[in-house]
Amino acid sequence: MAILALHGGAGGDGPWRGMTALDPQRLACMERILHDLGPRLEAGEINALEAVTLAVESMEDEPLYNAGRGSVLAADERVYMDASIMQGSDQAAGSVVNVESTRHPIRAAHLLLKEGWPVMLNAAAADAFAEKNGLEQVDLDWLKTDLRQAQWAKWHNEKSRPGSTDEDDEAVLDHDLGEAEGMGTVGAVALDSSGNLAAATSTGGMTGKPIGRIGDTPIIGAGTWCDPSVAVSCTGVGEAFIRTCAAHEVAVQLRNDSGNLAKACDTVLEMVKPMGGRGGIIAISRSGEVALPFQTMLMYRGLWRAGRITTGIGNEEYSSKPTTLGQNTGLP
Ligand code: ASP
Repeated sequence: MAILALHGGAGGDGPWRGMTALDPQRLACMERILHDLGPRLEAGEINALEAVTLAVESMEDEPLYNAGRGSVLAADERVYMDASIMQGSDQAAGSVVNVESTRHPIRAAHLLLKEGWPVMLNAAAADAFAEKNGLEQVDLDWLKTDLRQAQWAKWHNEKSRPGSTDEDDEAVLDHDLGEAEGMGTVGAVALDSSGNLAAATSTGGMTGKPIGRIGDTPIIGAGTWCDPSVAVSCTGVGEAFIRTCAAHEVAVQLRNDSGNLAKACDTVLEMVKPMGGRGGIIAISRSGEVALPFQTMLMYRGLWRAGRITTGIGNEEYSSKPTTLGQNTGLP
């Protein structure tokens, strides 16, 4: 049995109002990834760790997601990206914080995981590590998109408080800035045919974040967690996910709650809520249970399991066979 689940960020309040003009592109990106990687994972051609890395790399390249190219802009209109990755078998982990020029932050995190020490590198040192190891470096202009620039301008004009935090009702998850610009942090969790689990998460953070801010995404146990029993990737207002050790807490709840993954994830989202945290979680357990809950208006998500691809945005779901990519998805 092999399973791959993805998220493309969560956000928004109230009922989902249906797809925006840009949403089919987001779903198509997920479908492509699941279509490509699902069968390779099932066949044992790639393991769980490689699958989550490749999946997140592809989403980092999709400008409509808030990771890699197309990351949201911080208060100073620059891009600072965070990413982390973890594998279940030995809890090896890697993380980069506030990188500015590495095209694929998740691959830099993966390299750190492989090297084994240190687990985390920050800013210029993380970019230098990536470059030294042959990872492509890109300019700020390449990372920035017109859409993100417009989104930043909207934040700048309408939200007078730069650096919104979870304590602030006006916290700026990137979906909250208007449906047309709605897009997000990316993550992947996988179970491979040898029973190994892995989790990865990558983000540009939150629009207008203060320089130097570190969200939950690169923090092992907050935005990403993986042990022999469960793989978890979170998205949402990072500060609340940090304060609850949200991703790790899923593993704790799973242990305490006799293995009900859906319940464990729901409990963690409830813990995050009083701290102003809104968002979603994707998780896979060792036994192959999958949970993709969110407490926001939407969470872009996709799942490959037993040869079938399912994607969703709001509470609806679309199904397609991997062999009929782009057809039979219920998409307009
Ligand atoms: N968790 C991310 C952060 O706080 C944002 C997101 O998931 O949308 O940086």
